[in-house]
Amino acid sequence: MRTLVYSTRPYDQDALERANASRHSIEFAESALDERAAALARGFDGVCLFVNDHATPAVIACLAQGGVRLIAQRATGYNNIDLAAAAKYDVTVMRVGFYSPYAVAEHAVALLQTLNRKTHRAYSRVRESNFLLDGLVGMDLHGKTVGVVGTGKIGQAFASIMAGFGCTLLGYDVAQNPACVALGMRYVPLQALAAQADVISLHVPLFAETMRLVNAELLASMKPGVVLINTSRGKLIDTDALVEALKSGRVGAVGLDVYEVEEKLFFRDFSQRIMQDDVFARLVSFPNVLVTAHQAFLTHEALDQIAAATIQNLTDFEEGRDNANVLRA
Ligand code: NAD
Repeated sequence: MRTLVYSTRPYDQDALERANASRHSIEFAESALDERAAALARGFDGVCLFVNDHATPAVIACLAQGGVRLIAQRATGYNNIDLAAAAKYDVTVMRVGFYSPYAVAEHAVALLQTLNRKTHRAYSRVRESNFLLDGLVGMDLHGKTVGVVGTGKIGQAFASIMAGFGCTLLGYDVAQNPACVALGMRYVPLQALAAQADVISLHVPLFAETMRLVNAELLASMKPGVVLINTSRGKLIDTDALVEALKSGRVGAVGLDVYEVEEKLFFRDFSQRIMQDDVFARLVSFPNVLVTAHQAFLTHEALDQIAAATIQNLTDFEEGRDNANVLRA
């Protein structure tokens, strides 16, 4: 089984090589998958993708033409892969259905508490010998209402941490999670969650029906001063509307690990260039906005689990075994 790994960073290569232990033939490419880079996979049986590798119908046609029969996504989310096109070209798609939900949930909490207790500002101040506390006032999370949008594996892990802080939990999902109900979560419609929550954290996958779930109308119905956290997918939020809600002060703080058009920016070094994305530039100019570049998954435990599941997917595919990670259109 010969597989080409796209969008490789050193931590991917380390984890995949460790998990593979020379079982499969794996080669690594730094470039992201697009129509041009699809040609690199000619002669490979499989490709391994990450979240910003776009497997569009044209890309999948090119991969299939070159002999690729498997797309192994090394992530849980798979909105970057056109499943209908994969089925049309007889390309199997597998993902990593499960890895440490704690990695992402704990990063959401890190964003929340950094913004709330303003440790990002305190860090710079103290290094400049400014020991004033003005402007650093935060809130107790204890007793606050936290809205969890999407109460699957990551939403549940996040809710469990928030329950430990002594928060009241509201949930919005198409299906109730008994483990969240056991934590004391009350399921309510999205509008009601928006109106009552002091903190809102997004954990729904990106589907057509969740695209721009957080739009101008929903933002206007949120409690003034709400802290909004998104570690799921950037396209869940209408970023222009978010910038307006920040300018008006309706939204008190925003923590983002994902951004609507992050594929143009994330996982690359643009530090020597002028920022061309005006919306992103405006977003990071707010003192109450914290952006990390899609790193919520980035723990040793998660990387090892992602790599192990990916290698198992390659093995199962090679040996003709179906498994729960196969995605169908
Ligand atoms: P999951 O499948 O366990 O949970 C998703 C939940 O969303 C489910 O409970 C489901 O019922 C609910 N849902 C689906 N469609 C909905 C809709 N239209 N309205 C309301 N609820 C809906 O997934 P998970 O493992 O918890 O992951 C959630 C998302 O987190 C992933 O899809 C991915 O986009 C994102 N993620 C981000 C990172 C990162 O590094 N930032 C890492 C992993 C996952």
